[in-house]
Amino acid sequence: MPTHICSSEEDVVDAVVAARRWRSPLEIVAGGSKRDFGRTVVTMGSTLDVSGLSGIVSYEPEELILTAKPGTSTSEIEAVLAEKGQRLGFEPADWGALLGAAPGLGTIGGAISADTNGPARLRHGAVRDHLLGFRAVNGFGEAFKAGGKVVKNVTGFDMPKLVCGAMGTLCVLTEVTLRVFPRPSLSKVLGIRDLTPEDGFALLRKVWSSPLDATGLAYSRGTVLIRLDGEPAPLAEKCAALRILLDREMLEIPDGEIAFRAIADGSVFEDMPYDVWRCFVPPASAAQVAAEIDSPLWLADWAGGLLWVGTIPGTDTVRGSVRRVGGHSVLLRAEEETRERLAVFEPQDAVRLDMTRRVKAAFDPLGLFNPGRMWPERMEDV
Ligand SMILES: Cc1cc2nc3c(=O)[nH]c(=O)nc-3n(C[C@H](O)[C@H](O)[C@H](O)COP(=O)(O)OP(=O)(O)OC[C@H]3O[C@@H](n4cnc5c(N)ncnc54)[C@H](O)[C@@H]3O)c2cc1C
Repeated sequence: MPTHICSSEEDVVDAVVAARRWRSPLEIVAGGSKRDFGRTVVTMGSTLDVSGLSGIVSYEPEELILTAKPGTSTSEIEAVLAEKGQRLGFEPADWGALLGAAPGLGTIGGAISADTNGPARLRHGAVRDHLLGFRAVNGFGEAFKAGGKVVKNVTGFDMPKLVCGAMGTLCVLTEVTLRVFPRPSLSKVLGIRDLTPEDGFALLRKVWSSPLDATGLAYSRGTVLIRLDGEPAPLAEKCAALRILLDREMLEIPDGEIAFRAIADGSVFEDMPYDVWRCFVPPASAAQVAAEIDSPLWLADWAGGLLWVGTIPGTDTVRGSVRRVGGHSVLLRAEEETRERLAVFEPQDAVRLDMTRRVKAAFDPLGLFNPGRMWPERMEDV
């Protein structure tokens, strides 16, 4: 079965029109770094290779706006932004190594589609808060645009929110416009050791509700990590205010940026034989959930709003506890059989499922894009 290699929006339109004609579904692939996240795509082998849709289309540092083709590597975008003292606010994670691929392959289209929010999401918001607009091709083979290229945006359906985390099941992105943020000149990570989860999460929530604007609040194996950013003088003031707020002995972690990069990427699980879950919970319930789940290795980000949990392969010891506190969980890494059996994404209630079906039918009625990736191949079978 063919691989459609696309380097322009017209190529994508042609490929989708052909796929419609032959009723031949497509697996959309760019860097391929997250191919093992989600369920396995069921096609007859037809691939839509969008890695050639690559390059920065425009970048206006003074407007804090960047437009790129979706196959552009996230690392290239970060390097270009860094030259102008800017960065992506949602701090996209690189799950390549965690999922058994090479690191550094991730593309901006993949980061948006898989919702790869890193530690700074706590301060700057998630991918969906940064995607101002996009161009794409729907399942009718029609090119369309949504949103805009300015922060103050047009009215209409907020489709940029919809494609974040849709795992390529709604449309093929062909261009994305993101708002970007100034990069602070300095970042400091302070740590406090020997804390129980209850005490650790209570401290993190105290910092989170203070005006210190922390860009990282994590807990791992008894240690709390707090990241503060800023210019040298304001940053020194923030550190002093933090010491007064917490009134605790604090260590300056010399390689703190590396520690937060590792948290974003789930690096601690890379060589571990566990299944890996990302559990989204109310921070005030994080300690309770952590106590309930049977996990040999776990850590928390976002002041407890995100629990990274390792479990014995093939077991689900997390989903019930997470659901009971009103959260949801995603099985990020596991064998194909486990992902099939346990459901990668939180099973939806009847109302959401109905909405999901209708949205899918509006964008891709023939089910051409990434069938099986989020749900069983046919939505009617969910
Ligand atoms: C400060 C803070 C406070 C928080 N407070 C709360 C709280 O009070 N209550 C609470 O429950 N959570 C809370 N959270 C957790 C919050 O809900 C999560 O941050 C959020 O749900 C996950 O964000 P996300 O954008 O990373 O992922 P999501 O948008 O949730 O998506 C994660 C993954 O799941 C998939 N996915 C999402 N929705 C669906 C779907 N419908 N069907 C299939 N797949 C899907 C996406 O594809 C994506 O890959 C808090 C978080 C923070 C940072």
